[in-house]
Amino acid sequence: MKVSYWYNNNDIRIEDVSTPVAGPKEMLVKVISCGICGSDIVEWYRSPRAPLVQGHEIGAEVVATGADIKKYHIGDRVFIAPKVPCGTCFYCRNGHDPQCSEVRERLPGGFAEYILVPEILVERGTYLLPQSITYDQSTFIEPLACVVRAQRRACVKKEQSVMVIGCGMGGLLNVKLAKAKGCKVIAVDINQTKLEYAARMGADITLNAADNIPDRLVSQYGKKADVVFLCASADSAVEQAWKCVDKGGTIVLFAVPAPDKQVVVPVNDFWMKEITIQTSYYCGPPDIAEAMNLIASRKVVVDDLITHRLPLTDIVKGFKLVSDGRDSIKVIIKPHE
Ligand SMILES: [Zn+2]
Ligand SMILES: [Zn+2]
Repeated sequence: MKVSYWYNNNDIRIEDVSTPVAGPKEMLVKVISCGICGSDIVEWYRSPRAPLVQGHEIGAEVVATGADIKKYHIGDRVFIAPKVPCGTCFYCRNGHDPQCSEVRERLPGGFAEYILVPEILVERGTYLLPQSITYDQSTFIEPLACVVRAQRRACVKKEQSVMVIGCGMGGLLNVKLAKAKGCKVIAVDINQTKLEYAARMGADITLNAADNIPDRLVSQYGKKADVVFLCASADSAVEQAWKCVDKGGTIVLFAVPAPDKQVVVPVNDFWMKEITIQTSYYCGPPDIAEAMNLIASRKVVVDDLITHRLPLTDIVKGFKLVSDGRDSIKVIIKPHE
């Protein structure tokens, strides 16, 4: 079978390896669709594990099951989470699933023709796809689950003004979910095409990052934003987030600058204004379940975010499209096409 090994964004090698055989408690799945995530192209984040097979937004079909597997059958359509929390440690019991201390096994990546699913992920990381979710739609389960988590942590609710800085895939999913919750949504980006996307996806106002955004917010709504989602990593985006949050509001770090960047937080100003800085990292099982419901019920429609579908042999092109970011939103790799 063909597998792609990622060394860095410009060096991704496709290799032929023997297709693994499922042990008694494992299963083999055929990858039908696998999305390239914004985090896959972040070299400082991914390089420590390189070379690796990337791809964690996976829609797959079960093609072989180990002798001991009763829950799944050949032909089942599944989404598989890349790792699962234990559910019993201190962090899991307190809702911090992504901080679980017991995560040992990770799913091999989906930029490959097949994946051997290890026992723990067969047991607790595999989700049957309802007929109402296509394989391509299933590649949004994990990214939407991260957005579900971020908005829950920020207590986003109806009628709040929600500003999203950075309208790549994560930003646009934040726009869509905030609209589904009945919020007023302001989308900000430096790229006009992305702003057009944001407008089509329901943003009430789209603003170029070069505009005087705090003034625009005040003239439109009489105040700054209740919640600001930082979905871009440029220094200027961080500065923008600090300036656009209202008193008593929340800034959510959905994306962050690289670790070598120094971020200055205006703590005195934030102290007096009771501003919360909230982080959100990855997602947990309840977020995945909710994301699946949102997609299946079409409360969050994801199809209009797909801009490219590419065969595995075009993976380098896919990474270039996502890194460049100007002409793509969601790029899906289809290893069998
Ligand atoms: Zn992701
Ligand atoms: Zn745990």
